[in-house]
Amino acid sequence: MDDFCLQPNTWIDVDSGALTHNISVLRIASRRAGGDPILCVMVKGNAYGHGLVPTARVLLAAGVHWLAVHDIFEVQTLREAGLTAPIYVVGYLSPAQARAAVRLDARFVLYDGAVLAAAADEALRLGQVARVHVKIETGNNRQGLRHDAALTLCQRVARTPGAVLEGLATHFADIEDTTDHRFANSQLERFRHTVDAIHAELGLTERLLVHASNSAALLLWPDVVGRMARFGIAAYGLWPSKETWLSVCQLGQKPVELRPALTWKTVIAQIHEVPPGEYVGYGRTWRAVRPTRVAVLPIGYYDGYDRGLSNLAKVLIGGVRAPVIGRVAMNMTMVDVTDNAAAEVGREVVLLGEQRTPDGSDGDHVSADEMAAWLGTIHYEVVTRIAERIERRVVG
Ligand SMILES: *Cc1c(COP(=O)(O)O)cnc(C)c1O
Repeated sequence: MDDFCLQPNTWIDVDSGALTHNISVLRIASRRAGGDPILCVMVKGNAYGHGLVPTARVLLAAGVHWLAVHDIFEVQTLREAGLTAPIYVVGYLSPAQARAAVRLDARFVLYDGAVLAAAADEALRLGQVARVHVKIETGNNRQGLRHDAALTLCQRVARTPGAVLEGLATHFADIEDTTDHRFANSQLERFRHTVDAIHAELGLTERLLVHASNSAALLLWPDVVGRMARFGIAAYGLWPSKETWLSVCQLGQKPVELRPALTWKTVIAQIHEVPPGEYVGYGRTWRAVRPTRVAVLPIGYYDGYDRGLSNLAKVLIGGVRAPVIGRVAMNMTMVDVTDNAAAEVGREVVLLGEQRTPDGSDGDHVSADEMAAWLGTIHYEVVTRIAERIERRVVG
């Protein structure tokens, strides 16, 4: 089979220029307090759907210092691809996986003594060190330890040969969902209190790597970043939320310009005419009221094009919108192209992102935000749910 036959029917373009631009503006923002913080970018969730390895490469080339992942398998994938950058694991590791993290030279979040023991043991065996970041619970009640338990674990790390307490972390519960940041501020206060107590208790003269800033915190309070920002969504060109954007404006700052990097594409597989009175798709949820030109797209919920988009979403053909009609099926979706002059078999379709018109001028766009609104969810979920199997092509 020649390569042409292997051309996929759906793929994702990842704009390296947009990623590089975003890192550049976020780096400038992060320096506002005077320092030059470590930029630790989250590439969990298949790099927020952008493709783990290709995106990690672009981010590192753009000046990102560390990568952060959720689990050990992502570390393995990045190392196997030849990436040697520091990697920080933020998710659950079993003791055996913590040993693997040491072998793969990844630092990781810590809240459990058994994980510490296993990692330190492995480190001693290999003549290395296990670098850990103790997670402090400040109000999210998701992962981490409260003040006293965090203190005890830090003391234990300090007494454990083979282990090094490298950092202290917490995570905001309610920063991007609101324009009222009193709760986030209270978390910050609690975090600082525990961080100070740990430094005092351990008699540390040098400050640990203390980090709390996700995208929203970095955009809102660049002076809080300290020595490391640990962010995801903004790197991909998406504002954490409308509330975050509004809050930045309310603080009298000019919002940075972020450029979405992802465009999800497919092609038209078939076009046919449906007479008035006939139905389209499973469950006969859409009925033609006029002679209708229907385009079939080789894309469905298997690809991550959510079934909730049935009769709701719009796609772009020739730079203009065409409505999804009937139910999204496992591998196929129908759109109404009656009024779309550009529609023809083989024509490129944009499911998410922007598309120029055939004459090259600016066309329309479907943002991850808009798709999230159709689905009653957030854009984080929209981009991360795009099937991992779909090829990501770095362009630009
Ligand atoms: C995902 C995640 C982040 C990044 O959050 P964004 O809102 O995408 O910037 C930061 N810290 C932790 C612990 C996370 O899980």
